[in-house]
Amino acid sequence: MSSYEKSPLMGQMMGKPMLISSLIEHADRYFGKNEIVSRRVEGDIHRYNYSECHKRSKQLANAFAKLGVKLGDRIATLAWNGYRHLEAYYAVSGSGAVLHTINPRLHPEQIAYIANHAEDQYLLFDMTFLPIVQAIVAHCPGIKGYIMMCDQDKLPTDGKIPNLMAYEDLIEANSDDFAWPVFDENSASSLCYTSGTTGNPKGALYSHRSTILHSYGSSLPDGLNVSARDSVLPVVPMFHVNAWGLPYSAPLNGAKLVFPGPHLDGKSLYELFEQEKVTFSAGVPTVWLGLLTYVAQNNLKFSTFKRTVIGGSACPPAMMKTLRHTYGVEVVHAWGMTEMSPLGTAGTLMAKHADLAEEEKQAILQKQGHVLYGVDMKIVDDAGQELPWDGKTYGNLLVKGPWIINSYYKNEGGDVLEDGWFPTGDVATIDTDGYMQITDRSKDVVKSGGEWIGTIDLENVAVSHPAILQAACIGVFHPKWDERPLLLAVKKPGAEVSREELLQFFDGKVAKWWLPDDVVFIESLPLGATGKILKNKLREQFKEYKLPTA
Ligand code: ADP
Repeated sequence: MSSYEKSPLMGQMMGKPMLISSLIEHADRYFGKNEIVSRRVEGDIHRYNYSECHKRSKQLANAFAKLGVKLGDRIATLAWNGYRHLEAYYAVSGSGAVLHTINPRLHPEQIAYIANHAEDQYLLFDMTFLPIVQAIVAHCPGIKGYIMMCDQDKLPTDGKIPNLMAYEDLIEANSDDFAWPVFDENSASSLCYTSGTTGNPKGALYSHRSTILHSYGSSLPDGLNVSARDSVLPVVPMFHVNAWGLPYSAPLNGAKLVFPGPHLDGKSLYELFEQEKVTFSAGVPTVWLGLLTYVAQNNLKFSTFKRTVIGGSACPPAMMKTLRHTYGVEVVHAWGMTEMSPLGTAGTLMAKHADLAEEEKQAILQKQGHVLYGVDMKIVDDAGQELPWDGKTYGNLLVKGPWIINSYYKNEGGDVLEDGWFPTGDVATIDTDGYMQITDRSKDVVKSGGEWIGTIDLENVAVSHPAILQAACIGVFHPKWDERPLLLAVKKPGAEVSREELLQFFDGKVAKWWLPDDVVFIESLPLGATGKILKNKLREQFKEYKLPTA
């Protein structure tokens, strides 16, 4: 019986479920020769193509089947960006199991907590992370076996890790004759925990459907704009929010993939950019800081690098300007979060902006941008009333869409939605053209005499000073105003600026009452597991700080 006979109201299209395995099948069949290049933990460069990646993913899937991995089982990884990790992405999710990527920069105690909470069955890890595995093994009795992503001869022989296997052995011992199973597209595909700067980390459980939709959506020209002409180097880690979906959207579009492995310093990245003719990259601002410093110090230019997406925390306008004007790299400022797969908005111009002056264009590009189709957003006040889109009124940012969580894994934290919307915890404005700008994370805003001061603006001004490398602004206690902004700044090597000079530099750039009350120069800023500045640590460190009262 055809679907028309069943119901004349139903469309007559195939109900093929959207499954992650179809991405690698597609890349094998239509872009089979396109390359995947990885700088390995072993130190050398490894290169192969999508067809070979698909073949090895199926060999690994057969290995999992023999190990008894079933639909829905969680398989964890502790790994850098590399071809073996990519194979695990497809072998695990493609088999119907759940790929649980763990952030190795977390404390081993937190890693053990997460692995136990997720009830992981097997753990795959890069050699670099052997010490982490050794530290957690006694605390994770539920993990049945460990797979070190290396050849047999690299395995430790001290017997300290039970049921330890070599990844390459598993691949070699298994055939690539494997048919990807077909199941409900709403099945869980992968799991990523938030970094848990407050309280225990909570899991975002993605589905096959949400992942495919996010891969389509994020590929759009005003999103990541990834194509078969690109050579893509994801600096964003595959261990946190699936490297912003690039391991899925690159094969969807047939783009070349270039994985940096553990070497994220400026020199290693620059060499890979040049050798592999990288055209597109994505990362958090702190990564670009290292790369730009290296390039500037050595008087280098990029020969193929054309476009980058920067997000995860606010991209300082000074960094965006350097990339655009000095190096000719288009910067797309993007915003998202673990709970959103992660992409929510990206900043690109519209046709009507073509004739604007450079400064006006820059002002728009500095914003976190427009939603991608699939994401809807609004700003509300504390009573939940929707606020106007005038580019000035700020409020709590809420989102909804098919690649945004409706609850955390195992319902941790209870009901999180507010009337069907997910509260992001960010404070933002939206302008008449729908461009959203993050003012702050709600827990980072400085509450001065009942008014809010957004710290991102203040930090952006500070890092536009030629002597300042990095800056963070926090609220500290003030007897009259409750809280006032304190600026913590790191100077560029060899550069000099006084407290007074830096404060003067703010003149005319922000409202007078926003001016930081004081500046403290420090050696470095504490960074969290995802490369973001840990403001809660700074608040703790400067809890007793006495602001000048004059
Ligand atoms: P966590 O750090 O808790 O793991 P995510 O990595 O998911 O969380 O980060 C999400 C948060 O990062 C957002 O809610 C927002 O505060 C911040 N963020 C992400 N992109 C940007 C951006 N472009 N500008 C400012 N803040 C951003």
